[in-house]
Amino acid sequence: MSKIQIKIPGTITVGELAEQLDMNSTELITELFKNGVAATVNERIDAQTAEIILADIDKEYEIIEETTQAEVVEKRIPGKDSEPRPPVVAVMGHVDHGKTSLLDAIKGSEVTAGEAGGITQHISAYKVGHKGRFITFMDTPGHEAFSALRKHGAKLTDLAIIVVAADDGVKPQTKEAIKFAKQAGVKIMVAINKIDKETANVSKVLQELSDNGLMPETWGGDVVVQEVSATKNQGIEELMDMIFLVSDVEDLRADSVGPAEGLVIEAHTATGKGVVVSLLVEHGIIRKGDSVVAGTSYGKVKTLTDENGKTISEAGPSVPVIVTGFKQVPNFGDSFRVAKNDKDAKQIAKENSPDGITSGRLNMTGTELLKKINELKDTIELPVIVRADVKGSLQSVTDSLKGLENDEVSVRVVGSGVGSISESDITMAATSGSVIYGFSVDLPVQVKQLASNENVDIRIFDVIYELIDDVKERLEAQLTPEVIETQVAKLLVKGVFRTTKSEIICGGEVTKGKITPGLIARISRDGELIIEAIVGSVKRQHQDVKEVTEGDMCGLQLETSSKVLVEEGDKIEFVKRESKARKL
Ligand code: GDP
Repeated sequence: MSKIQIKIPGTITVGELAEQLDMNSTELITELFKNGVAATVNERIDAQTAEIILADIDKEYEIIEETTQAEVVEKRIPGKDSEPRPPVVAVMGHVDHGKTSLLDAIKGSEVTAGEAGGITQHISAYKVGHKGRFITFMDTPGHEAFSALRKHGAKLTDLAIIVVAADDGVKPQTKEAIKFAKQAGVKIMVAINKIDKETANVSKVLQELSDNGLMPETWGGDVVVQEVSATKNQGIEELMDMIFLVSDVEDLRADSVGPAEGLVIEAHTATGKGVVVSLLVEHGIIRKGDSVVAGTSYGKVKTLTDENGKTISEAGPSVPVIVTGFKQVPNFGDSFRVAKNDKDAKQIAKENSPDGITSGRLNMTGTELLKKINELKDTIELPVIVRADVKGSLQSVTDSLKGLENDEVSVRVVGSGVGSISESDITMAATSGSVIYGFSVDLPVQVKQLASNENVDIRIFDVIYELIDDVKERLEAQLTPEVIETQVAKLLVKGVFRTTKSEIICGGEVTKGKITPGLIARISRDGELIIEAIVGSVKRQHQDVKEVTEGDMCGLQLETSSKVLVEEGDKIEFVKRESKARKL
């Protein structure tokens, strides 16, 4: 029998799933309930949840997790009236290699100071002028916690500048950035930063770049490499020239007339403003008063400003803008377009199949489900519920958490949503045994009270990597410690005085190191291990001592239940055994 294919675009409502299954939604709700998921027809569940439910139903299904809208955005081929457009550039690289400083140098302004923990919190974009032309920079966040966002960042861009510190070389996040940029099919350039430092070693970096598949032009490859010093403002102009040089080869063009389309790069609600959305226009023109649609959200552009909040009348290709007027918060990475009128916008929003995380509500699974998952796997799962202020950071946090795993431990995101921590989060945390993690969100007093009554642990952070580190510590506490043994001494047995059921008293000469009580003694004969024991006490001239050292003749009391007898001429090796907490 061929399998029935069930397509799930990120998440699916219970009603939609029932329809695809060709079953009554009440029936499906009952199935879900049996699995501990109390859901209504309009509740969203993800592919994983659906898969577990389907495993219980007596039919052959195959879940096809469809890529989200952002991933299937196809580049529109510009028409004959197209015009050259500014390149969209993302700066990526290992933490502390100078991405923020480089962007500062490019912008000629200071942004580092205002960031919590020195990390760029939200993806944003801005235009920078150079020699009468523009470059749009995507200000992608700078820590590995943002790998998810960076992944999107690379997708939105034409060119990725990989920043590598000349004194540090290619590091894990550099490799990750190279991988993302390559996967996204964007052009790659390299900025070797911090060349002002005495410890700078440019040729080592070039070698490492070529080892990682980026062959520098100077070495006969095709990767443009520019040496810069962000803090000393060296090589910045040249870098900008290079950006044009590299992107001009691509002949970047866009239709500059007609209704705009592009991508959502940030979205949140703000008091007094409603839904605030950052958009990157890819084609066409957006104006105040336009009807717009992004994913399942729609609205009318109420205000249109540039990245600095300055009101503008219209914006064209590669221009980042901030708009208000959407009725709901769209998803990061959704494509947007200007519709003919409000009615059309509403209709398109309705037709767009929903994806991603539904704002304000949690995509829940349930206690039973968790139990089931835990039974299936022998890894220890840490159930968490995540709340964040905006979709971009929520996605970053959840994606980064999912990456925290090895074959022993992993994180299970039981629920996630945008906005303040709510009473229902507490209930869900209490039933699923989850810890609630909040990123830049509020904890209302009554919710805090409920959490304390229910013994639910809530952790709130303003810096993403601190949140990730906290989760990491909890996971690490679950790892079985690593046992480390070090050899500390050796002895040659010269005589055996007594052997009982539980101990051996023998004497000999310390041939190496220092023997102390508590060490593990491994007795071997002709190179083969015969007994393992523990050093009970150590004697020198019939007196108990704390230690005996190389060259000493000594007596040893060894605790063991081994029936094998020790003989003169046997060798003993002493090892210290320590357990060390493991890191993820
Ligand atoms: P990011 O984490 O990649 O955004 O790195 P930052 O821009 O925050 O830079 C990390 C550190 O390196 C800061 O202390 C900067 O002052 C320093 N730094 C950045 N660029 C340079 C440079 O060109 N030369 C020197 N000497 N230090 C730099």
